[in-house]
Amino acid sequence: YDDRDGVIWMDGKLVPWRDANVHILTHAMHYASAVFEGERAYGGKIFKSHEHSERLKRSANMIDFEIPYSVEEIDAAKAEVMKANGLSDCYVRPLAWRGSGPEMGVAAAQNPVRMAIAAWEWGAYYGAAKMKGAKLDIAKWKRPDPATAPSQAKASGLYMICTMSKHAAQAKGCSDAMMFDYRGYVAEATGANIFFVKDGEVHTPKADCFLNGITRQTVIGLLKDKQIKVHERHIEPAELEGFQQCWLTGTAAEVTPVAEIGDYNFEVGALTHDIAETYEAFVRA
Ligand code: PMP
Repeated sequence: YDDRDGVIWMDGKLVPWRDANVHILTHAMHYASAVFEGERAYGGKIFKSHEHSERLKRSANMIDFEIPYSVEEIDAAKAEVMKANGLSDCYVRPLAWRGSGPEMGVAAAQNPVRMAIAAWEWGAYYGAAKMKGAKLDIAKWKRPDPATAPSQAKASGLYMICTMSKHAAQAKGCSDAMMFDYRGYVAEATGANIFFVKDGEVHTPKADCFLNGITRQTVIGLLKDKQIKVHERHIEPAELEGFQQCWLTGTAAEVTPVAEIGDYNFEVGALTHDIAETYEAFVRA
């Protein structure tokens, strides 16, 4: 955890893993003024590194701060961290936040914006569920209205409801939770987007109040290449009963089959296996 070898990129320098600390008065710690990314490298190369760096900068802008590095500098820093740690297949976690400074209240325009990038080995996000199909709980927390929070930002503050939902799910023996949105439509899992299959066609919630994942967009493209119809639309809870297959997508989750959501069961079917394999080949290509 904290006390291990390795280096972390922090504000432009590589620092020993165990020294990558911040002050307790860090604004982000008190007020969630932080944004982050989750990326995976395959065979030494980060999948869609540039898109992730762009999203990081956009997320910061959405929560009202500017990251003092260009997309190219961020891409180079990620590669530097991987190299310095001797990693080629790994997870990469950039984080940018408002640090400690003259302001200790809600406003923090005068506090420095800081950034760090860590990388580590991380296997299958849902462990054995990657093969058998994950079991999902139904979260009691709802994805918020975009008028309440900047839902397209990968902002730390938005993860409070995710952590609470995931913990409640794990306490019931589930791997994760599926969240509805503020209107009651099916939204996503706590760190991954969701897809359903019905009669050979794919249905996925319209990303209008949650992260339009890079994996989600990639998978939609791969399905379209296979001439499979993809419907991005609002999905009512009552429809869950009629879907035959289900999977999650995300950088960490990749394509993970879902076997159960609450009382509903899904088959880990041919299309789920096919898209999981196609995605795996695509990220390594
Ligand atoms: N939704 C949430 C809440 C997430 O944390 C993630 C992971 N970043 C995703 C969706 C999937 O996004 P991506 O495919 O870009 O990793």
